[in-house]
Amino acid sequence: MTAKTAGRSTRRYKTQKRVFRAQCKDDGLPCWLCGEPIDYTLPYPHPESFSLDHAKTRTAHMELAEDPGNFRPSHLDCNKRRGDRDPAPGLGVRSEDW
Ligand SMILES: [Zn+2]
Repeated sequence: MTAKTAGRSTRRYKTQKRVFRAQCKDDGLPCWLCGEPIDYTLPYPHPESFSLDHAKTRTAHMELAEDPGNFRPSHLDCNKRRGDRDPAPGLGVRSEDW
């Protein structure tokens, strides 16, 4: 698992994450996995606190780990439950199912 640290520990990513969270908070964006609103005042690691999810997982798309276009707002719990699976099959990534 060489992708383990990608999109996780770099200074650049931490800044990106902070900016992304602020944008989501301003727009009041809901969790993209369950569709429920996110309470942006809840602190990590509250299960319903904000978590930056990757539309295309870090494992499969390491090159997108720090691409803001790949960022999605989610609940921490929803993000954890999703794991490395694709939440929306049929988006043209079938060939990567394994
Ligand atoms: Zn959720």
